[in-house]
Amino acid sequence: MSAPARDLPRAVSIREVGPRDGFQNEPEILPTADKVELINALARTGIRRLEVTSFVRPDVIPQLADAAEVLALIDVPDDVSLSVLIPNERGLDAALEHRRKIDEINVFLSASQTHNRKNVNRSVEESLAALQVVLVRAREAGLRCEAVISTSFGCPYEGRVGPERVLEIAAALRDAGAQEIGFGDTTGMANPRQVREFFGLAAAALGDGVQLTAHFHNTRGQGLANVLAALQAGVQSFESSFGELGGCPVPAGATGNIATEDLVSMLEQMGIETGVDLPALLACARRVQELLGRPLGSHTLVAGPIDWRG
Ligand code: ZN
Repeated sequence: MSAPARDLPRAVSIREVGPRDGFQNEPEILPTADKVELINALARTGIRRLEVTSFVRPDVIPQLADAAEVLALIDVPDDVSLSVLIPNERGLDAALEHRRKIDEINVFLSASQTHNRKNVNRSVEESLAALQVVLVRAREAGLRCEAVISTSFGCPYEGRVGPERVLEIAAALRDAGAQEIGFGDTTGMANPRQVREFFGLAAAALGDGVQLTAHFHNTRGQGLANVLAALQAGVQSFESSFGELGGCPVPAGATGNIATEDLVSMLEQMGIETGVDLPALLACARRVQELLGRPLGSHTLVAGPIDWRG
């Protein structure tokens, strides 16, 4: 038996990851000016947390080679918290040159060895040791720190990933300074029952001192069902991507994050506050669709917001 349902949260926090997770996984490189336009618009939709870029090696991810320019050029309201994805200490050094623009950093690793090796060419233990140093240094610099654990609900190469292993990694990241742990269903393998049980275990294992965040992908159409299960387990923090952009570099065919506009539409219809202006967000999704020149997977973008008067 799983834990009984708690009351659903009244409000949730959404972190938009499209400008990093999304643009990184596009085959073509979006011009810097277009990225800046989209980030500036997203920052005016009521979204309070925005992952804008990543300091990765430009030869590995040319899509984000303009990280410094993007950070220098964007103009966002003060109440929007900006984060960048940091792969290693060198990335942190680069990010710290823009310390005034950045509020948060995100670090990442996979819970499964094979996915981690394919993604960053290191064992999980090697990643963990390196990220612990990054987290300590980032906290010293006054940055808020989130660690995202990919393949938390299953690995495309190894199959089942035990929750005890995921939570062991999460505890190590928390102890190194992570104030928030994001659990990523990187290749869309999670189901709602598993999600509900997992977050019940996570809350018990990690305590109240760390924020627990759900990061779902819609690879098999189960993203929003998994959101509901996470809400029922008490999760109040979600990550998503406008236009359903994004994916994962490995394996090929790992499709997008849940669409922020689908998430906002569902939550607002359920009476759960997101603080996000859906029409303004849809304008951003329409604009990126236009710039990319291909239809995107977001449902609300296709159907439009629900109008009860119709
Ligand atoms: Zn993702």
